[in-house]
Amino acid sequence: MRVLVTGGAGFIGSALVRHLVADGHDVLNIDAMTYAGNPLNLADVASAPNYRFLKADIADAPAVNNAFVSFAPERVYHLAAESHVDRSIDGPGAFIKTNVVGTFVLLEAALAHVRKAGTLDTFRFVHISTDEVYGSLGATGLFTEQTPYAPNSPYSASKAGSDHLVRAWTHTYGLHTVISNCSNNYGPRQNAEKLIPTIVRNALMGRQIPIYGDGMNVRDWLFVEDHVEALVAIADKGEAGEKYNVGGHNEIENIRIAAAICGLMDEFAPKSGGGYASQITYVKDRPGHDRRYAIDATRARDEIGWTPQHTFETGLRKTVRWYVDNQDYWRTGAETETRLGLGR
Ligand code: NAD
Repeated sequence: MRVLVTGGAGFIGSALVRHLVADGHDVLNIDAMTYAGNPLNLADVASAPNYRFLKADIADAPAVNNAFVSFAPERVYHLAAESHVDRSIDGPGAFIKTNVVGTFVLLEAALAHVRKAGTLDTFRFVHISTDEVYGSLGATGLFTEQTPYAPNSPYSASKAGSDHLVRAWTHTYGLHTVISNCSNNYGPRQNAEKLIPTIVRNALMGRQIPIYGDGMNVRDWLFVEDHVEALVAIADKGEAGEKYNVGGHNEIENIRIAAAICGLMDEFAPKSGGGYASQITYVKDRPGHDRRYAIDATRARDEIGWTPQHTFETGLRKTVRWYVDNQDYWRTGAETETRLGLGR
């Protein structure tokens, strides 16, 4: 199949690209290579005959239209996004441009392409969204596909906006789209600013390990390769205009993650003078920090046959091992500890 992936140089996108290339699909990756796009993420596939790359902004309509005409994709996985909540607080404009306008440009290009090719029945557009569009939970309850949208950050608001556009392009124009709303991903090759790489990096560099607020914010962690399996299943079996929640059944407070990582680091990279947990430091909370996210993935299990294969213990072990063994990945020489998200 000819598969177009947007954002394939990012964390989740590159895991998906590796999977699709290994499966023998022809893959075109469109990525603008922002600060979050990393060529190292694609080193394994860069020279594969069934992989090609286009450096372009998804909000650039002529570039995106040309790509649809020349590549004629049968399937699109749309992952390109500004994805960091803290950055969205400091500078929301880029989030509106990429996540909202960029998604609109892709939908328009896809619609024009399938109408011309006469492939409205077989074409699939999978839009990768987040559980953050649902807002924040209290101590109990789970997000289902019926939970009303209540996004709280500029990031989640921009993703919610893009979800509504995607839904509308199915209901109004008949484009076959499916949305996945997934929880926090973790695994190798994640941008250094995200929580788990930040903890490992600061631990190994002998710095404070920053934990926002009281450390009791809860996320439902999903191993990135489990997410990739879910996306393929959603593309294969998801119903047009529908959405599927994807989660790892791993609800954990941030402070417990930090403690678990420090325990693994003590095993993988022991240091003299006490364990890494002594570096954990509570810092000022993120403005508007959502308290708890947790996913009910029953629909994905019952309707498309997907369940996560990794427990948090097995996935975290693999992940921490990878960051310890691949320090060149994050030791760029430019790693700063500038705190993001407090600028405004
Ligand atoms: P990431 O930040 O690691 O990668 C994003 C990629 O998109 C980068 O390669 C970047 O260069 C590219 N990009 C950004 N703006 C672009 C533009 N205008 N045009 C073309 N390319 C552009 O993100 P990720 O963590 O891999 O997330 C991928 C998708 O999954 C995003 O849509 C995100 O909202 C969603 N998501 C992520 C998580 C998570 O935990 N990481 C959870 C739920 C949903």
